[in-house]
Amino acid sequence: MAIGDLAERAKAFDGGLVYLCPDTNGDDGVAGGSFGDALQAFDGRAAHVPFNPQFLVALPFVNPKDESKRVIHALGLYSAIEDSLSQLSGGGKRSVLITCKSNRRAGCAYAAYDFVTNHLNEDLDAFLATSKAQGLTFVDSEPMVLWLKTVVEWKRKPGSRPLVLRQLFEKTSSTYTYLLYDDVTKEGILIDPVKETAQRDAKLAGELGVTLRYALNTHVHADHITGTGLLKTLLSPPPASVISKVGGAEADVLVDDYDVLSFANGRRHIFVLSTPGHTVGCLSFVVFDAGRTLVFTGDALLIRGCGRTDFQGGSSESLYDAVHSRLFTLPASALVLPAHNYDGLPSSTIGEERTLNPRLTKSKEEFVSIMANLNLPPPAKLDESVSANLKCGV
Ligand code: FE
Repeated sequence: MAIGDLAERAKAFDGGLVYLCPDTNGDDGVAGGSFGDALQAFDGRAAHVPFNPQFLVALPFVNPKDESKRVIHALGLYSAIEDSLSQLSGGGKRSVLITCKSNRRAGCAYAAYDFVTNHLNEDLDAFLATSKAQGLTFVDSEPMVLWLKTVVEWKRKPGSRPLVLRQLFEKTSSTYTYLLYDDVTKEGILIDPVKETAQRDAKLAGELGVTLRYALNTHVHADHITGTGLLKTLLSPPPASVISKVGGAEADVLVDDYDVLSFANGRRHIFVLSTPGHTVGCLSFVVFDAGRTLVFTGDALLIRGCGRTDFQGGSSESLYDAVHSRLFTLPASALVLPAHNYDGLPSSTIGEERTLNPRLTKSKEEFVSIMANLNLPPPAKLDESVSANLKCGV
């Protein structure tokens, strides 16, 4: 459907709109209008889910041989579609128009949603044959069919039930540490452990019978010493310490943007996302599991705030770009789990922060100016923390 027609159509239609083409300006041979116009006409009833090979919304041909990346990309796209449909339909109460330019992506997205929601235990090949007979052209696109099959396979797996999540707290630095584990294989990971509470965390893992494969750091912290070094001496087998490749710290595993860490016999995946700005090597970790998205944001995105950007290679411009182009493009329902909170708030969502974060809802210029005028004192443990954290448990 021509994007220009959408604004017209909005007048006679009280449902929602999901638009799937990556570009929204409507100027590549499509008649008139832009997604912006359509968005306005739909007055808050529209969502843009770019169905393209970019991060999280990628088609599986990005790297079809790498199973874990294929699954992560496929699920990223599916969860964004599912999220928009359930939000815009008000839980099935209103109609939603799914569209793109040729209706190929739209047909594919609709078929995936319909099959997962209504036909999951039926034969997928028969469903695809029926779709083809109905004139849906996506069936001839190998990447789209592979995407749909990946989503369906994953949705059918009993292992797709949620990981167990425990949010742990360290009082002095107000740090959240996260324990995440698979309750069948009893394998898990720990995110941002603190030295002072490493004993407690090791004891908890022992009580739960959980083997920790990785102890991950979102960044080189300046306000507390990481617990990864101590945990390695307390646990057997020791977890592998993990940190960013670009932050200058040492660890067993140095990770980079788009890397995937797997555990639980390769069934569970942590997706690494580079979100620099608070420090140069800041990472966020994304987990897609059973109908939910979790994002561990470190200090890049805090609840109604963000980490300071005035030392350790900080850059308010980079932080703004990272949050807007990456974290804010995750599904609105994605649960935000930060490294700190000083007000007793344990979590937020991407949708909430997109609309309520007092700093990051501003323009980039205003944000840079806010960050330049915070006038914060240096953290009490700055020197000892940074030097210890540069060797985060090798
Ligand atoms: Fe920090």
